[in-house]
Amino acid sequence: MKDLVQLRRPSRDSTPPAAERLAYVETYGCQMNVADSDMVLGLLQRAGYGRTDDPSRADLILINTCAVREKAEERVFARASMLAHAKARPDTVLGVTGCMAEHLKDKIRDRVPGVDLVIGPDGYRRLLDHVQTARGGQAVTDTKLDRAETYEGLDGVALGDTETAGVVGRVTIQRGCDKFCTFCVVPYTRGRERGVAPREVLRQARALVASGCKEIQLLGQTVNSYRYEDVGFAELLRAVAAIEGLARLRFTSPYPLDFSDGVIAAMAETPNIAKHVHLPLQSGADSVLARMRRGYDYPTFRGLAGKLRAAMPSIAITTDLLVGFCDETEDEHAATLRAQEELRFDGAFTFAYSEREGTTAARKMPDTVPPDVKQRRLAEVIAVQQRITGQIMAAQVGHRERILIEHASKRNPNELMGRTEAFRSVIVPAAPGLGPGALVDVTIARATAATLFGAA
Ligand code: SF4
Repeated sequence: MKDLVQLRRPSRDSTPPAAERLAYVETYGCQMNVADSDMVLGLLQRAGYGRTDDPSRADLILINTCAVREKAEERVFARASMLAHAKARPDTVLGVTGCMAEHLKDKIRDRVPGVDLVIGPDGYRRLLDHVQTARGGQAVTDTKLDRAETYEGLDGVALGDTETAGVVGRVTIQRGCDKFCTFCVVPYTRGRERGVAPREVLRQARALVASGCKEIQLLGQTVNSYRYEDVGFAELLRAVAAIEGLARLRFTSPYPLDFSDGVIAAMAETPNIAKHVHLPLQSGADSVLARMRRGYDYPTFRGLAGKLRAAMPSIAITTDLLVGFCDETEDEHAATLRAQEELRFDGAFTFAYSEREGTTAARKMPDTVPPDVKQRRLAEVIAVQQRITGQIMAAQVGHRERILIEHASKRNPNELMGRTEAFRSVIVPAAPGLGPGALVDVTIARATAATLFGAA
């Protein structure tokens, strides 16, 4: 299983003219944070910054953080301490941005005094001013949440900050979250839900396609809850899918209760909307779902999965599972294992619960499940999922699949990595004329639980 929290470091060093300032940006967390880093890099690029993958050469070092899990925060603290010591010059500015900045505010500087900037997810427009202030010797904390900020007009860097850059473009269509699940810190770190105007979503998506992207990912914390005036998510999906030259459209992550029949119809009727959905279940026990305040029970979720599969028989459904939530009993845990067997998810991100300060659970629900019990339950959930995922992957052997080539294989430069519509990764031999952005039909020859291997 892949941990949600991933470290993304710059993938290239854009060596600038000698007089140009250099920025180093490191990103943790979800796709929305990756998109925010792209936006910040775009802002810095327009202000004359070049990029470097060497923090010791940087004039500005930013760590764009995630606060969803305690483990992520500890990794960021360790990394910030290291980077504070790596500052090249006295006027090198070190900033911590994103959800952890919002969550911990000045406590970050208490732990790592070398941090000059603490900027929450709604403060990026003021970043350049804050950098100036910090260069003048004054530390800045800007964690004001803004109910109206959608960063309209602020484009990301043309080629993004990830290995899929230039092939897959991300467009944030919604910021914040209004759901207030009891375990989750996001509504406190990213503020209230707001949709980006459809004209802005379309402008950004068209620009990405014009720059060569073959796939667009629409992002939002509860992406299908999207609304802007009288435009809902189904209408927005159809409008973006209609952009000429767009081969694939994906979205993440939807909120189960807001998955309307209109969205299912849009997915089923529109060939270039990928038949894959990441639908977070969290627990198979109604009592746990109620304590989490997820808003649905297991039969409702199962009904939605059934509707999706009836409308799109080839659809892949992946999920999030959170084990060991407050007071979770063995029977409740067993309900999650049963749900995995019944729904046979294609994959799952699995987590053991850790209390996040400021949430309803932290305030009102004691974290009662001992760490060793959480770890044992997590191992059980992972084992079930690995078996099911392995079976589903093995069943792909012999299938003909269209894949979008994203980048060279990390393990072998003579191979390329592409993805199927269902988001399965496929390794194929490199061939003349085959490179990132190519759509190619391959036959799946071999499978592991994580990867398919094919040839044209
Ligand atoms: S829907 Fe719940 S889990 Fe998802 S971001 Fe909002 S509060 Fe967090």
